[in-house]
Amino acid sequence: MPLIVQKFGGTSVATPEKIQSAARKAIRAQQEGNQVVVVVSAMGHETDHLIDLAKQINDEPPAREMDMLLSTGEQVSVALMAMAIHRFGYRAISLTGAQMGIRTDNSFTKARIKTISTERIRKLLDAGNIVIAAGFQGVDDDYNITTLGRGGSDTTAVALAAVLGADACEIYTDVDGVYTTDPRLLPEARQMDLISYDEMLELASLGASVMHNRSIEFAKKFGVPIRVRSSFSDAPGSMIVSLPESNTVPVSGAALTREEARITVQGVPDSPGMSYEIFRRLADRKITVDMIVQNIGMEDRADISFTIPNHELKEALRAIEEGVKVTGATGYTYDDAVAKVSVVGLGMANQTGVAEKMFSSLANAGINIQMITTSEIKISCLVQRSEATAALRAVHQAFSLHVKPADANQWRIGQSISGSQSASEIVDRLSKSNLEQLTLLDISLLGDQARVTLTGVPDTPGLAEKVFREVAEVGVFVDMIIQSCDGYLGETSISFTVPEEQMPLSLDVLGKTGYNFRKIGGSTDIAKLSVSGIGLRSHTSVAIAMFKALADEGINVLMINTSELRVNVVIEGKDGQRGLAALQKTFAGALV
Ligand code: ASP
Ligand code: MG
Repeated sequence: MPLIVQKFGGTSVATPEKIQSAARKAIRAQQEGNQVVVVVSAMGHETDHLIDLAKQINDEPPAREMDMLLSTGEQVSVALMAMAIHRFGYRAISLTGAQMGIRTDNSFTKARIKTISTERIRKLLDAGNIVIAAGFQGVDDDYNITTLGRGGSDTTAVALAAVLGADACEIYTDVDGVYTTDPRLLPEARQMDLISYDEMLELASLGASVMHNRSIEFAKKFGVPIRVRSSFSDAPGSMIVSLPESNTVPVSGAALTREEARITVQGVPDSPGMSYEIFRRLADRKITVDMIVQNIGMEDRADISFTIPNHELKEALRAIEEGVKVTGATGYTYDDAVAKVSVVGLGMANQTGVAEKMFSSLANAGINIQMITTSEIKISCLVQRSEATAALRAVHQAFSLHVKPADANQWRIGQSISGSQSASEIVDRLSKSNLEQLTLLDISLLGDQARVTLTGVPDTPGLAEKVFREVAEVGVFVDMIIQSCDGYLGETSISFTVPEEQMPLSLDVLGKTGYNFRKIGGSTDIAKLSVSGIGLRSHTSVAIAMFKALADEGINVLMINTSELRVNVVIEGKDGQRGLAALQKTFAGALV
């Protein structure tokens, strides 16, 4: 018999009426011939209320007691949901995380799932029950109650779907699907029928997702197809699967991270271990760093710029002050009035001119780009916060995201999952140990790359566009792009990587442009190390561990970029093999 997991978020169970209407959806699914597991969140804003209550008693409540408290929210809703189903004359039984055997580690308030025993749930389903599972919670090896982090019920739902081999995982929520961008910001945003795991992961890490990012990692790892749909209508919603919406369109979504801050550490000695000294201090404080850009050093010193969530600025500056002292950097600057605009799309990985199109749309809107980072499937630009919405609109329009692609893919339930390993193989291997562990797919060394660096680039709107239009026009395939914002005398620098054989051509066209760069330089003596996997950003330790491994080997990092899928670093060519060996050793346990 097919098995369906349905998850109802807080707004979908906010009142007794809504609980009853959710109960009807579950009953209907059972009547249609499915076994049904229902995962529920706490009612409405209950979790917020509980946190509030705790803070009134103790500013810094012990994390263990916090989990004891927060888990009650879901315990209330599972009981009520089971009662609602009984009242309609059907069989249901509610289970807490511990009762259904969700084992987690003991990091209270952000625990990760290790194992799930499915025996009890299966027995109850086989006896004709609808099983009502409390989201967001588990139990550690000592029977302490744990919670999975805010929004964690999504992760419970996808995890259950994975281990039970469910045929569908439906996420019922207060929006009717996944949009090309936040429809509250741009009314022209379009609801998509389909989006890929990778794109959804990038969007989730940009804060632009209707789902918990760890749940998408889970779904990708185990190939669980997810349907996000409204609990208040019967509209089909959006599928999150292994396929993108279109095979030809380069960009499928855009996101705005409005509350960012930029920090630049200036004059960092350009020697091994310096990035590590700086980022380690941010990681220790659990500050998530994005858009890391390191200039190629002048006079053996480099500037390192990066962005963080604005509300963490104070704490981050404390870390930076320490970092400056330890590394002997000359100082730092920051800007707390910036925002990050990003585009995401699987299709951009094998098309040229995508970055250029984004830059030109911003230039045409008169918006200055302060920093750029790119990765396989994401391009981010830092702009002034006052221009954020205009920037998002410009980019959304440039890529015609409001128009459904002509070659839109379809997804049918039961469609096989592409990929080299079958989901069940992976489940078998991981379920015995650690379901949410960091999973690395590949560690590789790319040697045939070259770097082009422009220094003394005037910091004016349109410059990045011009540079990348010139190189795109002659057919150069540009990979990593970084533009920093050292801000000296209104100048910036731009570096990018190209295939080795295309470096002379790139230098040639840029030399002929007549723009007054201070210097146009390049080097073929670089190597790119790349670690790819699932959950690279929610396991923030990956980039740090990479820095550490390279620093311990005395290897200097020249360029860095990070995404959900991959962390890339560019190092000197001579260090390639040694760097690869160091990373293989560091990550040996995490490779699947
Ligand atoms: N109730 C928890 C929260 O509000 C978990 C969830 O809703 O997914 O974060
Ligand atoms: Mg919630």
